[in-house]
Amino acid sequence: MVSNRLPVSLERTGDDTWRTHPAAGGLVSALDPVMRRRGGVWVGWPGIADETTDTLRDVLDTHHNADSAYRLEPVALTAQDIAGFYEGFSNEVIWPLFHNRFTACRFEPEYWQVYQQVNREFARRINEVARADDFIWVHDYHLVNVADELRALGLYNRSSFFQHIPFPTADIFCNLPWWREIVYALLSYDFIGLQTVTDRVNLLDVLTTLFDHVETTADDDCVDVEIGDAGLEPHQHRLRIGTLPISIDYDHIAELAGSRRTAEYIERFREGWHGRTVMLGVDRLDYTKGLPEKLEAFREALTRYPELRTRISLQQHVIPSRQQVPQYAEQKEQIERLVGEINGEFTESGWVPIHYIFHSMEPAELMAHYQVADIALVTPLKDGMNLVAKEYCAATRDNNGVLILSEFAGAAAELGDHALLVNPHDVIATAERIHEAYYMDRAERQSRMQAMREIIQAHNAFDWVEDFLRAAGANSTNLQKQ
Ligand code: UDP
Repeated sequence: MVSNRLPVSLERTGDDTWRTHPAAGGLVSALDPVMRRRGGVWVGWPGIADETTDTLRDVLDTHHNADSAYRLEPVALTAQDIAGFYEGFSNEVIWPLFHNRFTACRFEPEYWQVYQQVNREFARRINEVARADDFIWVHDYHLVNVADELRALGLYNRSSFFQHIPFPTADIFCNLPWWREIVYALLSYDFIGLQTVTDRVNLLDVLTTLFDHVETTADDDCVDVEIGDAGLEPHQHRLRIGTLPISIDYDHIAELAGSRRTAEYIERFREGWHGRTVMLGVDRLDYTKGLPEKLEAFREALTRYPELRTRISLQQHVIPSRQQVPQYAEQKEQIERLVGEINGEFTESGWVPIHYIFHSMEPAELMAHYQVADIALVTPLKDGMNLVAKEYCAATRDNNGVLILSEFAGAAAELGDHALLVNPHDVIATAERIHEAYYMDRAERQSRMQAMREIIQAHNAFDWVEDFLRAAGANSTNLQKQ
């Protein structure tokens, strides 16, 4: 397993003393149990810069590897690496570009240099630890070049890539000065998993833009691609692309949602709302999450339907993220200005329209907010999947909740028949959906929510991992592609 971050972060507490912190997030909670069961090695950065590989390895050996079913292997990165590879190329080039925000990209040649160099470093570490029959699974947009670098080192193990974020149309993608290099790098994987059919169509479109002879054969959720052009390395002619939407650990969420700790939070929160309708937003601070558009839509709903005033509040949690990137700091200012404006315009004695909280929550608190909410407003401008939408459904154990969901979230492909879908740029239509959700009768709420919960439960995070490994042929013999 290879990802930018390891499932634990290290913190130096003294000359020779260290603390480990478990990394949160869907990826870790899906993959950790699989690694426990199957064993293996997880290669990644342990979240601390300017330490040597030997030091990091010793600390991980003591704090994790000594009593774990799988081993963590560190990639040592400098602060300069992090600046160019992670903050630079990953977050200021690929992230905005792949979310259709190409005007937000900073196409710095220096970022691309460091990105290639860090991907090479990851490949070197994998080469040191991989056995001949190991299946290599690389995660996400930080590490596109890893398979190519592995091939350059002479390592031909089966290797797969899962992209958690969207894949843009050829029109957008080809703005990247290094788009051809990225395509050649992707071809070095045997298998690429994407979240939706749209992402897969977009990647195929990019391939046909670059190559004259592309043949495809579809089977279930996968497409086998054969590229006939000269000039490719022997291992780059064949590729399999699958649509494999990531999921959540449904049972774990449902259990946590029913825990005593969550119940204590619920009691406290319900008291505060005095029976009013609660509409919930939980979004990481990010310009892809459509937060200003969401606030404008709520303003529009309160303007069009004055009877909603005093009866419904938006509780918007924004989770701190990437504030060292200038666009994120600007986004925060814009959100806070809008919240102030809307609250200034509509607040009445005893009622505030928007409760805005900029913080991270512990899981039980988040589960309580999901259950107290009558409506979840999940309106990203573009999102690979959006796990919050799935978690909201899994936690809504009484089926009494409405999901308003952006049609541009990956989750819409699975939940779109039962959620209220919106185009988040269409402020008026979103306001209408808020109004519709407010008046939706209990029977309709329940049947829609139950249907979404069944879909998520029937395809949880563990099924996703198994499906991926099967589609990628992880259990077959490692044969060199050529
Ligand atoms: N989340 C979290 N801390 C919080 C609130 C939410 O870790 O205080 C989690 C949430 O449970 C979800 C993830 O953050 O699993 C957000 O995933 P999503 O796919 O919705 O968006 P992303 O942040 O990955 O773009």
